[in-house]
Amino acid sequence: MRVILLGAPGSGKGTVAEGLRSAYGFPKISTGDLLRAAVRERTPLGLKAESQMGKGGLVDDATVLALLGERLAREDCRDGYTLDGFPRNIAQAESLEALGATGPEVVFDLHVGEDVIFRRLTNRRTCPSCEAIYHVINKPPKKEGTCDVCGTALVQRADDKPEVIAERLKTHHAKTEPLIARYTAKGTLHRIDAGQTAEATIAEVRKVLDAVRDKTARSQD
Ligand code: ADP
Ligand code: ZN
Repeated sequence: MRVILLGAPGSGKGTVAEGLRSAYGFPKISTGDLLRAAVRERTPLGLKAESQMGKGGLVDDATVLALLGERLAREDCRDGYTLDGFPRNIAQAESLEALGATGPEVVFDLHVGEDVIFRRLTNRRTCPSCEAIYHVINKPPKKEGTCDVCGTALVQRADDKPEVIAERLKTHHAKTEPLIARYTAKGTLHRIDAGQTAEATIAEVRKVLDAVRDKTARSQD
């Protein structure tokens, strides 16, 4: 199964992807995480991506595709994966289709209001080493300022500043929202209320995936 998570910044794509990884073992493929790793490692691709990310725009498709293609070619993606943050525009959706992957595709539109988005993102802290996500009020780490998973000092992402959040939302409306019509027409889109708790949102997503899985299994009998 190939799961695609659409949704504005702060809609909970990373959290849902993590939930699906622990429930089904699907690797979480986040182009944001891949890009931030490239920036940290100061690779040529990372150096190119950094300025766009800081402004809240999209990194160019060729850079993102190069990183993604490498990641999807790895063994753990053979039976399925969750894409978090890709595709983010029509051209990327076309590139993904051109890869010709098999297995059912299930797309979720994680829907949430902008007031909730601002509250989530300004309170978000992330681990720069393992990309674990925290929220200073709703999901604080056990030891203040420290990642529960790997012990690294938590940071506020450079693009989680209010002025960059506003730009990221604009980019989302302009570039990513048009994908909703595309996947609706394909019949693979499911809209989810992502303003609920993480547990409730993940449960709703899993209900859809379990139904798709049952249907696929039946049609193979
Ligand atoms: P969010 O969804 O909260 O904005 P991400 O971690 O997914 O966070 O993305 C952070 C930044 O990385 C984006 O603002 C954008 O600049 C870049 N980025 C991530 N994925 C893509 C993509 N598929 N195409 C282009 N740029 C991307
Ligand atoms: Zn960590």
